[in-house]
Amino acid sequence: MDPLMATALVLLAAAPADKSVELARDGKARATLVVAEEAIAAEKTAATELAAYLKKVTGAEFTIQGRPGPGTNILLGRSREVERRLPRLDWRALGSDGIVIRTVGDDLVLSGGRPRGTLYAVYTFLQDVVGCRWYASDAEEVIPNQPTLVVPRQEVVYRPPFDYRHHYTAALTDPRFCVKLRQNGREFMEAIPEAYGGDVRFGSAHTLLRQFLKADDHFQAHPEWYAYDKEKKERTPKAVCLTEPGAHAQVTQEVLAYLKRHPDTRILSVSCDDTNAACQCERCVTVRQREGSESGPLLMLVNAVAERVEKEHPDVLISTLAYWHTDRPPATLKPRRNVLIHLGVLDRNHKHAIPDVPHFSRYLKRWGELTPHVYIWDYDAHFGNFIQPHPNHTVLAKSLRFYRDQKVSGVFVQGSWGETGEFMHLRAWLSAQLMWNPDQDERALMTEFLNGYYGAAGPHLLAYLDLISNAVNRQPTTWLGVYDGETSHWLTLEDLNAATRLFEKAEAAVAGNDTLTYRVRRARFGIDTVWVQRYRELRRTARAEGRTFLGPEDPYAALERIAANEFKTDTFREWGPFSEYVARLRTSLPPREGSTPPECDRLKPYEWEDLQETALVVSPNRDHGSVVDDPAASNGKALKLVGGGQELEARLELPAHLEGRWRVYVVARAQPKGEQPAGIALGIYNPRELCRLIGEFSPAEAGHYRTFDLGVRRLTPGAKIWVQPSGAGSFGEVEATWIDRVFLIAAE
Ligand SMILES: [Zn+2]
Repeated sequence: MDPLMATALVLLAAAPADKSVELARDGKARATLVVAEEAIAAEKTAATELAAYLKKVTGAEFTIQGRPGPGTNILLGRSREVERRLPRLDWRALGSDGIVIRTVGDDLVLSGGRPRGTLYAVYTFLQDVVGCRWYASDAEEVIPNQPTLVVPRQEVVYRPPFDYRHHYTAALTDPRFCVKLRQNGREFMEAIPEAYGGDVRFGSAHTLLRQFLKADDHFQAHPEWYAYDKEKKERTPKAVCLTEPGAHAQVTQEVLAYLKRHPDTRILSVSCDDTNAACQCERCVTVRQREGSESGPLLMLVNAVAERVEKEHPDVLISTLAYWHTDRPPATLKPRRNVLIHLGVLDRNHKHAIPDVPHFSRYLKRWGELTPHVYIWDYDAHFGNFIQPHPNHTVLAKSLRFYRDQKVSGVFVQGSWGETGEFMHLRAWLSAQLMWNPDQDERALMTEFLNGYYGAAGPHLLAYLDLISNAVNRQPTTWLGVYDGETSHWLTLEDLNAATRLFEKAEAAVAGNDTLTYRVRRARFGIDTVWVQRYRELRRTARAEGRTFLGPEDPYAALERIAANEFKTDTFREWGPFSEYVARLRTSLPPREGSTPPECDRLKPYEWEDLQETALVVSPNRDHGSVVDDPAASNGKALKLVGGGQELEARLELPAHLEGRWRVYVVARAQPKGEQPAGIALGIYNPRELCRLIGEFSPAEAGHYRTFDLGVRRLTPGAKIWVQPSGAGSFGEVEATWIDRVFLIAAE
């Protein structure tokens, strides 16, 4: 909608002589709710919802009747009574969701476009005028206590800029909660019942190959409908040949059949699969080169389908994804008038809003010139890890204002799933408020939510969000991805220490309140996981630089607390169960397998490192050694080197995260072949220093492991700790050499 139109509507609707109206006094109703018999279901729901909430606020019983009575009336819906009171109102301009909140004489009008406007007028009135709040589906609603309720003069006529508004996240699965936030989009989600205004859908995504022109159905008979692979010189079903007339005809036929089966469809997607695979036939290549984008071949197919659909279904839009290899607009082709472009703004640094991303702002402007039907598919989570800190909380506001200015008509924002999505409820609420009206101050909204949902912890959490936002923006080039990358390239030990202090303050601020404590702890979960995931690196930094370390004292205990899944989340990333995340964390902090060596008895877990036999490799090749069961070994297993060849060696290459000063120990034993003692040689090949030690085992000693102390060493990346059987000097022949473990004790 024209951004000026909302203003124009307000001016048009403004009328003199309207005054404040009293709805209740001392817990007694002073107004009657009026909804016409012939009102639609959602308008009747609006009346019962208003009566229920006014009762909660004032304590008064409000009656609902079909016609206005004496005294003050609250007129709901688009009835003749309402039209008579607002004779100059342009109802068409309200669309399906626009609202009217007007005092007219002694009465209050809560109305709007059909089907959802009246219901949204009621919730907007309750939120903005009465002071009710619905912060999250897992939180108590905020209801002010006002036995006397006087409403100042109202003159709101407003239509939200986006016809489709949908923040797709686990925080917004409850359809009735979404209605209160005026979210009408429900693609991929449970429907909003008609009595609550119904919902809007954009007809799915990635439908080619998955829904239309399935390879299983057609590839054998019509390989020419599918992508040509230039290297293999054959057709493959990994993509559609988008310029093939036969493929156009078949997709058209399948789309028409779908529309016949689903006559309520208003938008239907014909879009590429979730890959950048493309046909390399001569015709596709020619179109692609001419248009400078795969959107060229795609539009040839989509326009062909849309042209045929229009004849039978003039109200249906065929949507397609401008995403990945089709995001750039074509040079000469144009979408047909009944084609909707759904632009996915994925490939970018997600700490920047779209106006600060040159290629996407250019693409969006150009698409907007080519068609009035543009939707956006934006991203508000880290899809590789919903839990980890992902500081883009305020980016969406700026993007939404830009979308509005570019006349985008629908916004789908993909958020996080599971119970522990990072600040998931904040994101959902903020996004919903801004999709309704992007001109609101996102900082003020965020502050309000944090104080409302986290109580006295709110200011500390705001400080935390500022902290991580500043951290990611410290370097202009720092990349904030949404599929890969963890936090080590932007979140420092000092940031984590500061974050931990803030969460401690936040928890202290709500101590004694179990609900708020639970929410604060859940908000902290992201930082808790970072401490465990990056434990060794952070410990090492703290030790090397003499800094404070506010991470957990015992990382293994911290890992088990995470594994216990206190917040009962089922997932941590797109298509990944939480158990997978725990397994990933375990690899960053391998469990202690063997018994604790006496040298480490009094040490804290992070003060020593255990490298068991599997960390060693055998050279010259594996035939000379293998891991075997050995009851004498610390974990029941050891690496056994057979014989005493001169080049035989077991070697441990220092993992990068263990760089630093360590006292190095090797636990090993040797078995002589005859009566002469067997020799063993151990050492460190450290690029800057060498160290070598010799030991001997008599036949009587062969069954017992010995701990060799290789001294304090500054181990640099690439350092190798090695063990060899030794036949040199006075030693006899070696039957076998066993290595139980290498362990390192941190040296200050
Ligand atoms: Zn082709």
